[in-house]
Amino acid sequence: MSYTFSRTKLIDKIKFGLLSPDEIRKMAAARIITADTYDEDGLPIPSGLMDQRLGTIEPGQRCQTCGNLVSTCMGHFGHIDRINFNCK
Ligand SMILES: [Zn+2]
Repeated sequence: MSYTFSRTKLIDKIKFGLLSPDEIRKMAAARIITADTYDEDGLPIPSGLMDQRLGTIEPGQRCQTCGNLVSTCMGHFGHIDRINFNCK
């Protein structure tokens, strides 16, 4: 793969910021609730780390969020809610 840069654009400024937890939840493609990845049949576990709403790495499979194949899906982020443990 090669890239050709025929036009140059100058970036005037970049602004960084933080999203609130509610904004992150609204923007996330999936809520991840388990660290498991694949089931015994080799399929991604829903709401797991390889949830198909986050994109796909398997040729021929379509992303469940955008419907694109691995070559055109840019990937989507999920969110994990922090869990508080009471330790005594
Ligand atoms: Zn996608």
